[in-house]
Amino acid sequence: MDVQREEAPQWQESDSCQNCKQPFFWNLKQMWDTKSLGLRQHHCRKCGKAICGKCSTKCTTYPVMGFEFQVRVCNDCFDTIKDEDRTSLATFHEGKHNIAHMNLDNARGLMVTCGSDRIVKIWDMTPVIGCSMATGFSSR
Ligand SMILES: [Zn+2]
Ligand SMILES: [Zn+2]
Repeated sequence: MDVQREEAPQWQESDSCQNCKQPFFWNLKQMWDTKSLGLRQHHCRKCGKAICGKCSTKCTTYPVMGFEFQVRVCNDCFDTIKDEDRTSLATFHEGKHNIAHMNLDNARGLMVTCGSDRIVKIWDMTPVIGCSMATGFSSR
């Protein structure tokens, strides 16, 4: 599979929301200056910005970065995430292939599966078997 993966961003540090500029609760000076109450800091998992709760009301999965579960993103990023970005990569490959019979050829690292739809597939299992075989043949 060559699915494009994205690096998760570094979380940015800020004393105020990088979106609406409201101060966070430890930013006493700005709270005093703006006569506003400090807010809790959150981070957007997509762009890494330090944001307040109001600016990050949305949660989404983002499997491209490895987030198969719901994570917080800022409202701006939420708008940029398309439906196909949310498709889980974990269930992405061959989910529809119902296996009726299977046979594993250990020596060659090949697996043959026969689906209920009578489609026969040959799988290269060497990356999977490779590691378990390596432990089996230790120090002889
Ligand atoms: Zn904000
Ligand atoms: Zn963001």
